[in-house]
Amino acid sequence: MEPRDARSRPLRTLRVSVTDRCNFRCPYCMPREAFGPDHPFLPRSALLTFEELARLTRIFATLGVRKLRLTGGEPLLRQDLPDLVRMLAAIPDLEDLALTTNGALLAALAQPLLRAGLQRLTVSLDTLRPDRFQRLGGTTLPLTQILGGLDAARDAGFAPIKLNCVVQRGVNDDELLDLAAFAREGGHVLRFIEFMDVGTTNGWRRDAVVSAEEIRRCLDRHWPLEPLAPTENAVAHGWRYRDGKGEVGLIASVTAPFCGGCDRARLSAEGRLYTCLFAAEGLDLRGFLRGGHSDSDLAALLAARWRLRDDSYSEQRAATAPGRTRIEMSRIGG
Ligand code: SAM
Ligand code: SF4
Ligand code: SF4
Repeated sequence: MEPRDARSRPLRTLRVSVTDRCNFRCPYCMPREAFGPDHPFLPRSALLTFEELARLTRIFATLGVRKLRLTGGEPLLRQDLPDLVRMLAAIPDLEDLALTTNGALLAALAQPLLRAGLQRLTVSLDTLRPDRFQRLGGTTLPLTQILGGLDAARDAGFAPIKLNCVVQRGVNDDELLDLAAFAREGGHVLRFIEFMDVGTTNGWRRDAVVSAEEIRRCLDRHWPLEPLAPTENAVAHGWRYRDGKGEVGLIASVTAPFCGGCDRARLSAEGRLYTCLFAAEGLDLRGFLRGGHSDSDLAALLAARWRLRDDSYSEQRAATAPGRTRIEMSRIGG
């Protein structure tokens, strides 16, 4: 009984935030003014336990979920994360287990995560300039720590590693070629992401968005590109360098929204289910998990919620009133 939502979209992908905390303060995600020292992060008892996450994932898999991505906040801050990965990797119907990280703690964790069964890794990297890196990450950690983590992950055996780069006009759009050259040389797959209006604190402006098409033209002038065949429900448009030196992805969430194929549900660290990155309200699953309900009750609840889903925020962005309430991205991941 795999449910379809109100727009006939299946439920295939689950993004799980394992913590709302982060060791960075990227202004586009967790600006320091909004996430200062007094910010009320979730207490440990409010987080779903590994057993609760594994149980929920097994139930989601019965409804059609095949791909799972761990995210945050910064997922590597969650204690004993490889133990969770081991539990999730043992769920037979899950075909893809991936994680997105800022890379700061990767040097020590890459190998344990791979051994535990993590299949794919995405590392966020918006700049290759040391000073700019600290400013864009709101961190005093050196860029070399991320690059070291990336090398450690490659040496451990993650291949290819995806690199996520959010492009902002006047901020890092002068580094497109440098970042592409870095990824080409390192054998990584770079994905350029349009700057999005997630949450309500990141000061998003439409004119700070550099369109995927503009990025494509810039790359193509330097290294001619050809399109890859589209894969089903893919978010990124894939391009191949004609000289054979790998691929690059472009994620046009603002200029060419992909809501029509969106098969993703998102789970916040405290167990709220969101059916869109831009949702205002989440369904409290923790209460049900801790309330003695059976797996089949939970499956029925999730299926009923999915059937009601009609989200398509990115397609309607232009028509949406400014100031509308939205969940912060650090609560539910990217
Ligand atoms: N902390 C991890 C990291 O940074 O990779 C995982 C969580 S982070 C919320 C997931 C992804 O969302 C990152 O690649 C980040 O660059 C991206 N992201 C955050 N805010 C964004 C925004 N306003 N527009 C587009 N992407 C954004
Ligand atoms: Fe932290 Fe990732 Fe958000 Fe940056 S994008 S503040 S690293 S959660
Ligand atoms: Fe999916 Fe919502 Fe993003 Fe559209 S706006 S692609 S429905 S998460």
